[in-house]
Amino acid sequence: MNAFPSIAEARSCGPCTLCCRLPDIDYFDKPANEWCAHCVDGKGCSIYNDRPSVCRDFLCLWMTGDALGDEWEPARSKMMVYGQGQQTTVLVDPDFPDAWRADPYFSQLQAWARAAEPQGGYVIVFCRDDVFKV
Ligand code: SF4
Ligand code: SF4
Repeated sequence: MNAFPSIAEARSCGPCTLCCRLPDIDYFDKPANEWCAHCVDGKGCSIYNDRPSVCRDFLCLWMTGDALGDEWEPARSKMMVYGQGQQTTVLVDPDFPDAWRADPYFSQLQAWARAAEPQGGYVIVFCRDDVFKV
């Protein structure tokens, strides 16, 4: 994602497993917002050592981007953020559908959108079945 510098302090996923639920994953034929069949509540991935590259290669921007402050920790913000070319994608935990509308999050989403726009970038929020362009 080009709107954010890479790298950052060391962070860890901790108890977060949002990326095993929120995105659709073609490899597993998993729809968005449904748990991966290999995710065990409270324990995480049951096939961790054998998980496919689609899982091994993914890190959300909170894990890699120092532009996302501690408030963006996915387990705390109820959102996961990642880059797809010019698009910054925000997936919202369907159990907390209004999380992205509250500050400090909404103001930051607007700031990201403003910063990305001159380079053709944009910010999209997916929440349940709804899609919003910030
Ligand atoms: S959403 Fe980010 S913090 Fe959460 S498990 Fe995935 S990579 Fe880790
Ligand atoms: S295989 Fe493991 S890491 Fe990959 S989505 Fe499923 S539970 Fe998550």
